[in-house]
Amino acid sequence: MLEYQPKKDLLKNKIVLVTGAGDGIGKQAALSYAALGATVILLGRTQQKLVAVYDAIIAQGQATPAIVALDLQTANDAQYQELAQLIAHEFGQLDGLLHNASLLGSLGPLEHLPIDTLETVLKVNVTAQVALTQALLPLLRKAPSASIIFTSSSVGRKGRAFWGAYAISKFATEGVMQTLADELDGSTIRSNSINPGATRTTMRASAYPAEDPQTLKTPAEIMPIYEYLMGEDSLHENGRAFNAQ
Ligand code: NDP
Repeated sequence: MLEYQPKKDLLKNKIVLVTGAGDGIGKQAALSYAALGATVILLGRTQQKLVAVYDAIIAQGQATPAIVALDLQTANDAQYQELAQLIAHEFGQLDGLLHNASLLGSLGPLEHLPIDTLETVLKVNVTAQVALTQALLPLLRKAPSASIIFTSSSVGRKGRAFWGAYAISKFATEGVMQTLADELDGSTIRSNSINPGATRTTMRASAYPAEDPQTLKTPAEIMPIYEYLMGEDSLHENGRAFNAQ
């Protein structure tokens, strides 16, 4: 899949929301989608980082993005509804939704996993994704075709010792993706997941502090699958679990 070459205007006139758009893979996805013509809605919890991504997109002369500062750990139904109303008012529809924001939580044996850590990680990595999807489905239905992309992990496909709440949340993410894909089968909306694989970001560095980041792929290098699944070359894909590497 790394060979995929999108056409230059793949996402022209498309409205795409990216969560965790201020850093790491989400930041790169926002920049890449904007470069392909999309108007990107940058959602994240640190406004300053979102503004930096906004400025980078404007500096490239691309479509003016929107910033939504929202902490998925504390966001409530009213805020999700408010977001949906804002998108409806500004854009009328939503063509793509990349669920990228995640928390790593703490690593260690399941026997000692603090339950409050489990709850926090599940809230951000799973519950918030479901709530956001619920709020945005009516807008995704208004698009001629729409893509929902979930972000998984290799520990969300095969369990691994000490990956605790994070691994549990990523298995649940695959479950949300598959359930939704089955419900949406035959509709204009598709739902798939991506496992980015080891990628040079802050999250990876906190999980593997002794690793040399230079040995890892950069977020820019794993973009082909993100571009493929967001654009219309993937109209026939639904319910599949992809690997970026
Ligand atoms: P980063 O930690 O670099 O970036 C995560 C982004 O999510 C940050 O912008 C962060 O915001 C945002 N975020 C975290 N919590 C919240 C919250 N409560 N509300 C809103 N935004 C939040 O991670 P990566 O870029 O490495 O990871 C991106 C995705 O890829 C994740 O789903 C991760 O699980 C997955 N992944 C990554 C791998 C890797 O090797 N990097 C491997 C496998 C999967 P802020 O900037 O404010 O902290």
